[in-house]
Amino acid sequence: MPNHKVDVLLVGAGVMSATLGSLLTHLDPTLKIAMVERLAKVAHESSHSLHNAGTGHAGYCELNYTPQQADGSVKIDKALQINAAFEMSLQFWSYLIEQRDLPMPEYFINPVFHQSFVWDDDVAFLRSRYDQLRKHHLFEEMEYSEDPAVLREWMPLVMAGRNPQQKVAATQVSMVRMWTSGISRAPWSSRYIGTATLS
Ligand SMILES: Cc1cc2nc3c(=O)[nH]c(=O)nc-3n(C[C@H](O)[C@H](O)[C@H](O)COP(=O)(O)OP(=O)(O)OC[C@H]3O[C@@H](n4cnc5c(N)ncnc54)[C@H](O)[C@@H]3O)c2cc1C
Repeated sequence: MPNHKVDVLLVGAGVMSATLGSLLTHLDPTLKIAMVERLAKVAHESSHSLHNAGTGHAGYCELNYTPQQADGSVKIDKALQINAAFEMSLQFWSYLIEQRDLPMPEYFINPVFHQSFVWDDDVAFLRSRYDQLRKHHLFEEMEYSEDPAVLREWMPLVMAGRNPQQKVAATQVSMVRMWTSGISRAPWSSRYIGTATLS
């Protein structure tokens, strides 16, 4: 292997190295950055599009970020931390779009509803989680419902054929904040918003 002197060596050509390399290049374009990958192709481990779920973890729907405590309360610190990090990512991607470094953003990021669905005993947990999260401005657009009619609108396939007597609940975030976080200011935003299924 040839001997090169670099300022930054990124080991592994996955999304983390790509993101850090891009961030550092914007912060200091004079940096000499090299990326090494042991496989023949880039992004062929966890970052491969078929090797992960492809969702942006924002703490909206990932119930594991809000564990229930022994006294029944819900701990939300991790969800707040994850959501703040996601917000930073949105701002960085918005910047890249404005700089035309992400020329076809719809191939990179698209908004989807973030939904959680529970039934029976877990309804109390979701209600408590919602009550806690809603107090924070990052989660103020979160919606909550225990009404089967509303849930049928939100998630028709999940509700189809379900016992009408069963206690159910769901939360939903429509990712409106994605439009207000700076991504909406990008030149392609009107077309982007036009293709989204926001109500
Ligand atoms: C089933 C599954 C579902 C997931 N779902 C989501 C999701 O919905 N949302 C989400 O945000 N995240 C999700 N993740 C996590 C996400 O995929 C990873 O966090 C992310 O892809 C990690 O990126 P990375 O660059 O750190 O690692 P990788 O993409 O794995 O890249 C590491 C690279 O380093 C290379 N490498 C390792 N050692 C060396 C070495 N010594 N020399 C040279 N190269 C080396 C590897 O070959 C690899 O190409 C999921 C992960 C899995 C497995």
